[in-house]
Amino acid sequence: MGITSSGQLIGRAFGPRVRLVLFFVFTWLGVALLLAFLLHEGRREAERKAPSVALGVTSLLEARLAATMRRLQGNLEHLAASLPREAFRPLAVERFRETVVNELELFSGQFPEVSGFRVMDASGHLLYASGVAQLPTEFVGRSYFGASEVQSGIALHFSEVIVDKASGRSFLFVIQSVRDTHGDLLGLVAAPLDLDVLAKTFETINVGAKGMLGIWRADDGRQILQRPVVYGRVNQASEGNPLYRRIESGEKSGTMRLPEMLDGIERVYAFQRIADYPLYVEGGLAVDDYLAEWRQMLWIALVSGLLLFLSLSLVLIRLLRAENEEEVIAGKLAESEARYRMLAENSHDVIWTLDIPSRRYTYVSPSITDMCGYLPDEIVGQTIDARLTSESATRLAQDIDQRLRRIAAGDKTANVVVTELEQVCKDGEVISTEVVSSYLLDGDGVAHTILGITRNVSERKAAEQALRETNRQLHARIEEIGRLQVALQELAVRDSLTGLYNRRYLDETLEREVSRARREGNPLSLVMLDIDYFKRVNDTYGHQVGDEALRILATTLLADIRTEDVACRYGGEEFLILLPNMPLETAVQRAEAWRRSIEELSIALGNFHITFTISLGVAAYPEHGKTPDDLTRCADQALYHAKHEGRNQISIFSA
Ligand code: GH3
Ligand code: MG
Ligand code: MG
Repeated sequence: MGITSSGQLIGRAFGPRVRLVLFFVFTWLGVALLLAFLLHEGRREAERKAPSVALGVTSLLEARLAATMRRLQGNLEHLAASLPREAFRPLAVERFRETVVNELELFSGQFPEVSGFRVMDASGHLLYASGVAQLPTEFVGRSYFGASEVQSGIALHFSEVIVDKASGRSFLFVIQSVRDTHGDLLGLVAAPLDLDVLAKTFETINVGAKGMLGIWRADDGRQILQRPVVYGRVNQASEGNPLYRRIESGEKSGTMRLPEMLDGIERVYAFQRIADYPLYVEGGLAVDDYLAEWRQMLWIALVSGLLLFLSLSLVLIRLLRAENEEEVIAGKLAESEARYRMLAENSHDVIWTLDIPSRRYTYVSPSITDMCGYLPDEIVGQTIDARLTSESATRLAQDIDQRLRRIAAGDKTANVVVTELEQVCKDGEVISTEVVSSYLLDGDGVAHTILGITRNVSERKAAEQALRETNRQLHARIEEIGRLQVALQELAVRDSLTGLYNRRYLDETLEREVSRARREGNPLSLVMLDIDYFKRVNDTYGHQVGDEALRILATTLLADIRTEDVACRYGGEEFLILLPNMPLETAVQRAEAWRRSIEELSIALGNFHITFTISLGVAAYPEHGKTPDDLTRCADQALYHAKHEGRNQISIFSA
């Protein structure tokens, strides 16, 4: 498995958040490890260097001390050799004092550590002295100055540390024995080494704030000088001093780390024998001192590590939050995309997108197959007019151009449009579609895509067409019915034989006309007529001829009345003519005219000519009556009167 595939495996195994956390954890761990390694190395380096630095310090001290000792020994040896042997005899002291003291003075003051010289006899009694006078004068009986020690043949001896009570200063006497030619001890030459002055030279050697420098005796391990001072230790051999044990075992120099020796401070010590002398020097570097720099680094590293950790954590938290928000947004986006895709994929309408610059489809939903028979892939990539009739394609191209111009001019209402287009299906069938197009704009307001929804409206259009046809037919029927109704209404108020209004219509009309005449103060006349001896006509020529006579009478009357006049068949062969707004005199004239017309009528019936006459009764409003009933009755009475008077005449109602 390669690196890439294992990387992919990790990518699959962990989510982006876990990967982010891992990245930060590893980054921080890496930095922490690097810091730890560098700190560790730094400490190791400091620890490694400390013994050699300590050794360097002791070497320096040893070199200085050895040089001092050698110079001192040279002086002492010179004195020992040059002093006259007789001068050691107690009785000769006074005689030699001046000479010897002058000699001693010559050497005094050559180096600051040595404040003067002393000459003593073999028993330790002081014979001569130079330099500072306040020194112990009596050496006899001192434990370090036993005869065995002095007489052992070793040239140079060291006293124990002596504190001058008056000045409080400490001295170490360096003693050279003086022997005669037989090797017998004549006396001693001694130089007091001022330890306080020596201690001052310690200050020029840097061992750090808690460092330690000291001089010890190599023969018995007693302390001569130590800085810093530990009280009560001078001239004491510290119990079980491991450094001294190594000196005892013959080592010349070495290093050792000791915890809390003497003063409770852990140090790395170095020791070095002073060549040719029974002394050794010790230098101790405190662990606290030589690690101080490293400890400072440690703190800086810890603080910066912590700061790095905090800042990385903050960044991580920010990133995780951003990641979280991104995830939520991505989730919502995916959800809404799925929703819209589902809508698009399951819609009966065809949903599509079109790239405006190329005028080509970039997406077409699957319902195109149901609508037109094409697969989406057959349409995607095609130009918009490929599946349209040429009329629709031309119209659409013009519309798109016009809308793009309007959108470019900032017209916000041009973004959505509904058009009807004719589409050519795969099988050649042309269907009507309704297309809702939305122009999608980029940030600069430039339209780049059309989102469209196409709906097959062929059926709807067919249904609309059918509906319109049904509607038209319905309207025609309604008109017909209206006409029939009018006709029916006419029929209802007309007499079927003569075509004149019937009695029911007259009753209604008379009522209305009387009211109006009363309201408007106009006259109104009523003429009632009846055919004379009609029974005879029937009897003679038959009923059908009688009917014909009735029709002709009606026709004659209708031809000679005003449009506002109402002629009606009142009974079998009785007629009543209502003459609105007509005074009595005029009505009489009209009646006379009708009588004459009928009288002059001659109905041809085969070889026969039939003639008949009518009698008429006239009544008028308001003279004869004021109600329809009164007026009718008056007209009837007038008619009766005309019959009675001999027929074929007019009679005016009279009370
Ligand atoms: P008069 O001069 O007194 O009016 O004599 P008349 O014979 O006309 O008498 P009347 O008015 O009483 O007679 C009515 C006659 O009219 C009776 C009937 O045979 C006839 N008649 C009524 N209605 C019709 C009709 O619809 N058709 C025909 N053919 N005859 C009718
Ligand atoms: Mg009659
Ligand atoms: Mg009659």
